[in-house]
Amino acid sequence: MKLERKQRYTPVTNKDRKCGDITYHSFRGTTIYIIHGKNGDMMVDTGLFHVRRAVRKWAKRFNVKYIFITHAHADHDWNAGRFKKAFGARLLLNKKDFGLRSNFKTMKATRPKYRFKCFQLNINGKLFPSPRYKVDIPIKSEGSALLKRLGFEGEFVFLPGHTDGMTALLCGDTLYCGDSFTALFYEPEIPPYAIDIDGMKKSLKKILEINPKWLACGHGLPVKMSDARKVIIKYLNE
Ligand SMILES: [Zn+2]
Repeated sequence: MKLERKQRYTPVTNKDRKCGDITYHSFRGTTIYIIHGKNGDMMVDTGLFHVRRAVRKWAKRFNVKYIFITHAHADHDWNAGRFKKAFGARLLLNKKDFGLRSNFKTMKATRPKYRFKCFQLNINGKLFPSPRYKVDIPIKSEGSALLKRLGFEGEFVFLPGHTDGMTALLCGDTLYCGDSFTALFYEPEIPPYAIDIDGMKKSLKKILEINPKWLACGHGLPVKMSDARKVIIKYLNE
C-alpha cells in the first residue's frame, strides 16, 4: 500500500483504509470502496488497468458478490469484466451509461484551468475504450428497492452531469459519489469535467440537500461534507 502523495484537507489517513464505516483502497489516484451486505460485499468501481493487480489483491479479503460501477468512464470500469470473472460477481451500472464505453461522449471543462486536461481526456476517451463487459443488473431507478433485494441497506441517487448515468450510493452517512465530486487533486473539488455542466450543477445542489457526513469520491480520499460544502457553494456562486 503506497501512501497518497499529499493530503491537505482531511484527518483520514491512508494507513487506516477505514474511515468511520468507509472501507477503501486509494492507490495511484483511484479509490475503490467496499460496502458490506447480508449476502456478500459490493465493490464500488474497479479502476483503470494500472491498479488492477493491487485492487484485486486487496479485494480478495472480502466476499465480493457485486460490483457497482458509478459511471462508464474507463478509469472506473476498465477492470469490470476481469473482476466480475475473478470474484464471480454481478455487475451493476445505470442504464443511461450503457453506450458510453463504446461511444465516448465529449466532456467539457468545468473551470478554464481544466481545458487542456479536458482536451487530452477527450482524445484518450475516444481512442481507448475499456474492455467489453456485460452488465448483469441495470440500475433503472433511484431508491432503496434494488439494493434491499440484493441485501444492502442504502439507496441509489442519480447525479447526472459528469455523465448521463452518473449514480451515487447513499449508505448510512456516506455518499459514494463516483465523479460527482472529487479529491483528484488532493483537495475537495468539483469534478473537472462534465458532459453537461448545468446538469452537474443541479447534481451538486442535490448533494448539498442530501448533506451526508462523508463524500466517498472515486479519486482521492473520502472528503468531509463540511469541507466539500464550501467548495460547492463557491462554485455555484461564481
Ligand atoms: Zn468520470
